[in-house]
Amino acid sequence: MMNNHFADIILPLAVKGKFTYRIPEGLIDKVLPGSRVLVQFGSKKLYSGIVRAIHENSPDIPNVRTLIEVLDPAPAANEIMLKFWSWISEYYMCTGGEVIKAALPSVLCLEGETTVPVVEKYKPRKEPFITLASAFTDRELSEMLDALSRAPRQQAVLTAWLSLSGYSEGLEIRPVRKWELLKQGGNSPGALEGLIKKGILSTVIIEVGRLDEVPVTPEPLRILSGSQEKALNAIHKIFMEKGIALLHGVTSSGKTEIYIHLIEEQLSRGKQVLYLLPEIGLTTQIILRLRMHFSRVTGVYHSRFSEPEKAEIWNRVALKDPTKGYQLILGVRSALFLPFSDLGLIIVDEEQDSSYKQNDPAPRYNARDSAVVLAGLHGAKTILGSASPSIESYNNALSGKYGLVELNERFGAVRLPDIIIANSREAYRKKLMVSHFTPELLEVIDEALGNNEQVILFQNRRGFSPYIECPECGWIPKCVQCAVNLTYHKGINRMVCHYCGYSTGMPAHCGNCHSPGLATRGFGTEKVEDEIRIVFPSARVARMDHDTTRGKNSFNRLLGAFEERQIDIMIGTQMISKGLDFENLTVVGVLNADNMLNFPDFRAHERSFQLMEQVSGRAGRRNKPGKVVIQTSDPTHKIIRLVLRHDYKTMFRMQADERRLFNYPPFCRMIRISIKHKDRSLLNKFSEILGRDLKSLFGNRILGPEFPLISQVQLWYIKTILVKLEREKPVAPAKQSISEAIERLEKEQGASSLRIAIDVDPY
Ligand code: ADP
Ligand code: ZN
Ligand code: ZN
Repeated sequence: MMNNHFADIILPLAVKGKFTYRIPEGLIDKVLPGSRVLVQFGSKKLYSGIVRAIHENSPDIPNVRTLIEVLDPAPAANEIMLKFWSWISEYYMCTGGEVIKAALPSVLCLEGETTVPVVEKYKPRKEPFITLASAFTDRELSEMLDALSRAPRQQAVLTAWLSLSGYSEGLEIRPVRKWELLKQGGNSPGALEGLIKKGILSTVIIEVGRLDEVPVTPEPLRILSGSQEKALNAIHKIFMEKGIALLHGVTSSGKTEIYIHLIEEQLSRGKQVLYLLPEIGLTTQIILRLRMHFSRVTGVYHSRFSEPEKAEIWNRVALKDPTKGYQLILGVRSALFLPFSDLGLIIVDEEQDSSYKQNDPAPRYNARDSAVVLAGLHGAKTILGSASPSIESYNNALSGKYGLVELNERFGAVRLPDIIIANSREAYRKKLMVSHFTPELLEVIDEALGNNEQVILFQNRRGFSPYIECPECGWIPKCVQCAVNLTYHKGINRMVCHYCGYSTGMPAHCGNCHSPGLATRGFGTEKVEDEIRIVFPSARVARMDHDTTRGKNSFNRLLGAFEERQIDIMIGTQMISKGLDFENLTVVGVLNADNMLNFPDFRAHERSFQLMEQVSGRAGRRNKPGKVVIQTSDPTHKIIRLVLRHDYKTMFRMQADERRLFNYPPFCRMIRISIKHKDRSLLNKFSEILGRDLKSLFGNRILGPEFPLISQVQLWYIKTILVKLEREKPVAPAKQSISEAIERLEKEQGASSLRIAIDVDPY
């Protein structure tokens, strides 16, 4: 007689639908919501999945499969995590499988075939240690050492062991890492073997963490200034009524210092804290500040950790034991998925940053918005911090949905830098430009270098030249599989597609008119680096962008070198614009404000303002006043004028008015559907079908289908349909209709070779 216990399982696959398995008799007590279980899927594949729910409703299909086994003694996901995953998959319109693929470290996702046994991928790391074979007395030890005088190498090893372990009679024996002992003891494995054979030392295998960190003695928190204290109190007051506070504080006002006070309060109550940052690079400097106070309980999480390291961090967050587990996590967006059980606070620093949004693959979530939901599930508070908040968050603060706290002075009354607007059009006309540098910029760089101060130059394009052009006929080499101009990279002497990575050598002749002598146009970070070396030959120059920071530690190395003043001028993309705090940095140059301002996106002005504010915040943070030079061909541009006055509020008002007028977020909801096909005419046909279907449901709230700015990537043609929905109306029914329309399209003949992606809040 079959039992009537079933489990709905989320499998780490992008497939839609619910998967229900029978729980075998022997596992009924062991299978719980959140358990990781092994099941068969399809004719011969095995996967580990997560139990979403347990019930007694026999599914309406013949031959319900039985789940094979339970993989861990305790569930891998707690109730809050399961709720959070469901929210992500409903709100961002993706499958549960896509969510757990993003959420779980990949070593926890097993995959196999029915014919081969599945093995766990995560293995604790073990290392050989050397210990004393027995608890010898001091006298015995000195007799042994004497007896070894004719074997000086063995004597050296034993002496090294005694000094490394700090052993003396009556004390606990502390094993020593084998490699460390060998290093200190003269590098003679033979001698070590000898001591082991004599029964003096012995080997033990010990499980070690991959995340070596040395705890430091905590330092007391800094005393807040008057205005910081006021801000902290205001946050406390908001948290008595609301879950979310927006801290709008100028760069260097001490937002981080306030976060540290809030963290301390939560940790002392035994609560967990999640501190989110937009990018890995930022973790380096902040982690040092956090470890000063909370070293024992602080963990870091980002994508450059290896999969086993990620699994270890995961396990340490899950540990209920507050002395061994991580109570405070500093991480990037994916840290939202760690197995927190009792969060008291989530901090989202630089909340306006676009890196919080995951564009691909699904789930296409925004970590700031998801953090607010996750905090709600824990009954925790959220603090969003920024020097120039996103339009949507500031709007939420003005409408009363969030509390608002402002901090207008820099700590220690450090002056905001002087901003100099350099007119590049004028300088070109008067032939005063030296390569891409205006006289204003060159002058302040010169002065800074003369004072042994440091310079950062910002250019939001990497590579050497954004494109190559035939001066005769205007031909531009493009990627063979994307509708994108190739970017010239001089270091490797190749043209590279920044969308798909395709690269090819520099052509000798124009592909159209065959004339020789193609010209490079525009400039990227690599070109700036080249040219600044020519202008300032004795300066030490480095570059920080996607190309120079691929390795796990390259970012830290560059930052370290800058901090140590081994670099005079650093050139970088927006990577360098964020949160970096350097004592000796006094000049920041924005090389081309125009291409930010003219970027075809409704957020271009907002983002340009934020970016210029942020890079300005990097100059003269401490006791040296800083200078910021912004090069632009349009010095009267309204955004430039607002940056000059640091006038966030006017920028907000202008942007809000514009978006209300043209119906853009935050005054509408946006859902973007992108449809891809390798055949252009089939793509047109299918996107028209979907477009018509959606228009019959949503009328003029549907825009498109249209080819986007980049209309082809990796041989896939792309069309997008934009749905703009009213803010006030419930969004779930509209999402339901969209899903149904897509399902109808997928049933059309030939539609199976389409790729369809949905992006909710695609901005
Ligand atoms: P923000 O996060 O707003 O950019 P930070 O918290 O990084 O500002 O503060 C800027 C600088 O001022 C840091 O070097 C910080 O250590 C220092 N600072 C801020 N507040 C205090 C304080 N109350 N006591 C001592 N130093 C402070
Ligand atoms: Zn390409
Ligand atoms: Zn040509």
